[in-house]
Amino acid sequence: MPATSYPLEPERAEMEAMGQAALDLLIGFIERLSEAPAVGTAKADDDLIAGLLQPPPETAGELGPLLARFEEAAGCAIETAGPGFLGYIPGGGLYTSALAELLARGFNRYTAISSFAPALVALEESTLQWLCQEFGLPSTAAGEITTGGSMATLTAVLTARHDRLGEDFLDGTVYVTAHTHQCVAKAARVAGLPARRVRIVPNDADLRMDTEALATLIAQDRAAGLRPFLMVATAGTTNTGAIDPLPELAELARQEGLWFHVDGAYGGFFHLTERGRARLAGVETADSLVLDPHKGLFLPYGTAVLLVRDRSTLQAAFGTGTSSPYLQDVDDSPGASLPTFADLGPDLTREFRGLRLWLPLHLHGIGAFRAALDEKLDLAEHAYRHLAADTRLEVPWKPELSTVAFRLRGAVGSGRNGGGDGGGRGDQAAEHERNQRFLESILAANRVLLSSTRIDGRFTVRLSVLSHRTHREHIDEALDIIRSAADDL
Ligand SMILES: *Cc1c(COP(=O)(O)O)cnc(C)c1O
Repeated sequence: MPATSYPLEPERAEMEAMGQAALDLLIGFIERLSEAPAVGTAKADDDLIAGLLQPPPETAGELGPLLARFEEAAGCAIETAGPGFLGYIPGGGLYTSALAELLARGFNRYTAISSFAPALVALEESTLQWLCQEFGLPSTAAGEITTGGSMATLTAVLTARHDRLGEDFLDGTVYVTAHTHQCVAKAARVAGLPARRVRIVPNDADLRMDTEALATLIAQDRAAGLRPFLMVATAGTTNTGAIDPLPELAELARQEGLWFHVDGAYGGFFHLTERGRARLAGVETADSLVLDPHKGLFLPYGTAVLLVRDRSTLQAAFGTGTSSPYLQDVDDSPGASLPTFADLGPDLTREFRGLRLWLPLHLHGIGAFRAALDEKLDLAEHAYRHLAADTRLEVPWKPELSTVAFRLRGAVGSGRNGGGDGGGRGDQAAEHERNQRFLESILAANRVLLSSTRIDGRFTVRLSVLSHRTHREHIDEALDIIRSAADDL
């Protein structure tokens, strides 16, 4: 026997010691976040990776060294939890949600079928019903917690396909823009739709879907014998946070009999703020809506939400009831008010997902989230003002949410929408290269992580604020770093 050995069911004292060791590690990590390097440790050395690719041993290990290995592995990363993470769409990782997750996993209740744990299903359902109300959906609405926005989007696309096209769906068409998240095309592919059925609608100068162009495309597709069935509007694009014109699009979707899906994975939770609610007007008309609490509610990765206007559409797409013989002991009639989550999405067995949302919401109160999201809008406006005032920079779009896109002025004409106006390909390549060096120089400070994208073919740097840990001092530091990177070029 090795010196230490860990029974599968430890004694109380062992559980306490293990729990304390894990908590100490976590709390130390959180305390050091504001000083942690933003990017510099992400390049792993080959030995570390090779060591971690080894299979588990036959005999017991030791917790201390294993936790230390985990810590070393976790340290070799882009600092996605820290205040300087301003790239892509940031998340945060609320401590209280992590605690909820520990409890949910430890209790290991089965919540796929409500009669197994009706009160916990009610707890989870309360968070979904709160969201349905917050977004102005009718009393027929229902929701499902998924592992991510992409899974929620897939569930929405499958539901729309089932509802509007039935089983013969190969001639169905979906409408997106160049700025729609790629998870929509992926969902369409997984849902069995040919790639050419995903139609790219032109956008306006503000990068929002052009409703007239969409109407034309729908008419052309109908004339060609296709069956338009799904319109995807984005409430906060990943590139710039642009919000598609929801009321106009909803009206067109209604006239044309299309399913109206709204992707609020990034922008949706800004609805909790006054400014966000005004900018997201029309979201209440959605047939389905995706939200990412692991972005806009600062939860750890792994939690998204799909809301649908009419529960029966989800039920029709995914319901199997307890018709399988091995489920014959299951009581599936626990009262009309409780959902059978297994009938509202692809999962049967899944972890109890409600607590990680419920505990932070009840503990901090919705007001705390409202205030934090308001702060993010202020920070983005603050960043926009300072960047736009710098004559070396081109900042083409005033942020509607919390993402500011900018680039160095230079080689190519600095027109608002770029593309056609400036020089030729050579100029564009030069612009690309200069801005890439600009971004590299920003990252070299190792205090903030910004990411880049291409908009109308042009290299564009993005600063996106969405962590609960990012405050004014961090944005001011980022602005200083950006300015001195511009000085260097
Ligand atoms: C992040 C994002 C998604 C995808 O969500 P995941 O949770 O990463 O799967 C979809 N749409 C938008 C607008 C996003 O920002």
